[in-house]
Amino acid sequence: MGVGHSSLSSCSVDSLCITAFIAQPKTTSFSNSNRQKPLFPTKKQSPFAVLKIGTLNCARVAGEMEIKKGIAAAGKPIVDRHVIDDGLIQKIVYDALVWISLHGLLVGDRNDQRSGKLPGVGMVHAPIALLPTSFPESYWKQACELAPIFNELIDRVSLDGKFLQDSLARTKKVDAFTSRLLDIHSKILEMNKKEEIRLGLHRSDYMLDEKTKLLLQIEFNTISSSFAGLGCLVTDLHRTLLNDYGEDLGLDSKRIPGNTATGQFAEALAKAWTEYNNPRAVAMIVVQTEERNMYDQHWLCTVLKERYNVRTIRKTLAEIDSEGQLLPDGTFLVGGQAVAVVYFRAGYAPTDYPSESEWRARLLMEQSSAIKCPSISYHLAGTKKIQQELAKPNVLERFLESKEDTAKLRKCFAGLWSLVDSDITKKAIEKPELFVMKPQREGGGNNIYGDDVKETLLRLQKEGSEEDAAYILMQRIFPAVSPTFLIRDGICHKDHAISELGVYSAYLRNKESVIMNDQCGYLMRTKVSSSNEGGVAAGFAVLDSIYLT
Ligand code: ADP
Ligand code: MG
Repeated sequence: MGVGHSSLSSCSVDSLCITAFIAQPKTTSFSNSNRQKPLFPTKKQSPFAVLKIGTLNCARVAGEMEIKKGIAAAGKPIVDRHVIDDGLIQKIVYDALVWISLHGLLVGDRNDQRSGKLPGVGMVHAPIALLPTSFPESYWKQACELAPIFNELIDRVSLDGKFLQDSLARTKKVDAFTSRLLDIHSKILEMNKKEEIRLGLHRSDYMLDEKTKLLLQIEFNTISSSFAGLGCLVTDLHRTLLNDYGEDLGLDSKRIPGNTATGQFAEALAKAWTEYNNPRAVAMIVVQTEERNMYDQHWLCTVLKERYNVRTIRKTLAEIDSEGQLLPDGTFLVGGQAVAVVYFRAGYAPTDYPSESEWRARLLMEQSSAIKCPSISYHLAGTKKIQQELAKPNVLERFLESKEDTAKLRKCFAGLWSLVDSDITKKAIEKPELFVMKPQREGGGNNIYGDDVKETLLRLQKEGSEEDAAYILMQRIFPAVSPTFLIRDGICHKDHAISELGVYSAYLRNKESVIMNDQCGYLMRTKVSSSNEGGVAAGFAVLDSIYLT
């Protein structure tokens, strides 16, 4: 997303939300709790200056961290009893910053007004973890194996218009945004329009629950899955650092799995473009009016052009409304240019539709023969309500024949409930810290945690309205907490952190022919354990990669 808007603090699907943790609360000591702590949403209160490079004194830091080597459990530090020397950390940080600057691991600097509009001005390195986070190989393989199964599931769910409409019917009454999406979906169903070429560029996010030792899915993103571009660069960076410092750290760069997300996403877009079969057509990226995560997107477009000679244009929804034209044969023209593939990096949040103009654009694209990534059906199939419906008994079986596949998917489902389940709402009121309450939103910062869960549930009960249909309840997952070096704005900061693994996947089919159904690299996001979400003003999330243990 859209680190587009004002403060990167909206952690859209696209933005990751790394941005938000910019205003990280002062963390005075490592505690083992990953429960919420008071939030300090202003930058002024950032403690980062303490570890500014050049003045960095990491000896104490390292001593405290007791970094441990080769521990197999997830989230455990990766260097054993090896106190990382202050000077060494300084050297690694410096080298990392040089590498990042030379290789385009960049985002727009929120301090520069033009940085969301104009490439090449106001750039700052993306927030990163200095070293990769350890992750057990068996869970990594499990996550990779799930990717093609989820791809197929989403495709089949997308074809069941009635299931989507029925599952979201109550939500529609109380959630204006979901209602508008469903209206577009209804119109397409009424037209009896079939999407024969279907493209999905997804990211399935997981956390490894420490207590149960289960890899549990957080959510499945079907729209604007961000950071394929920058995520690959973080992997390259970490490999480079371990090639140079691996011996000192007792780490082997080969334990970091390769990350080809950018190349594979570009390949999927190129193959979709080929299926569309109009050599003069372009791929169009739907963008927000301001986008500080533009370099992530530019990486993808650059590979698409250099490797596959497919040109892209960038348009906002408002521009598409004013320049778009639908020809009788379904061809979609923007500024007179035929569009083969529409790739959304905007359009997932209500703020992306400030007027009717944006909704008109969305409908127009949907009515066209251009390949939409995602189509309205794919978009709806990725909502949290559908995630919860799919977790109900016997629902997966409606879509997938293979018992083995349904068992694999079910194993990664956390507890998911609708609020009509009075036993669960009662439990959630009693123990709100064990639940997360989620509305039908993407982009971070929308979920409800802790006492707010209790208060919201009590309010909904009291009001007796149907507003409960706007939310789902989810089991709260508690990943292991580990000490981590996080770098933002050139400043190295250590903190206790937890991580979320995202696995990218691409799915392309034309009628009965599945052209691509692959896992496509990954993104690790690591955030301070005191933050509920990776984004939002409270968090401190960074781009990361994994070190297999
Ligand atoms: P969004 O669409 O806004 O990204 P997510 O469902 O991914 O919504 O939630 C945002 C963030 O909140 C996640 O990246 C994760 O850090 C945290 N989160 C979400 N669900 C859970 C959960 N069940 N347990 C613990 N943390 C969660
Ligand atoms: Mg998310």
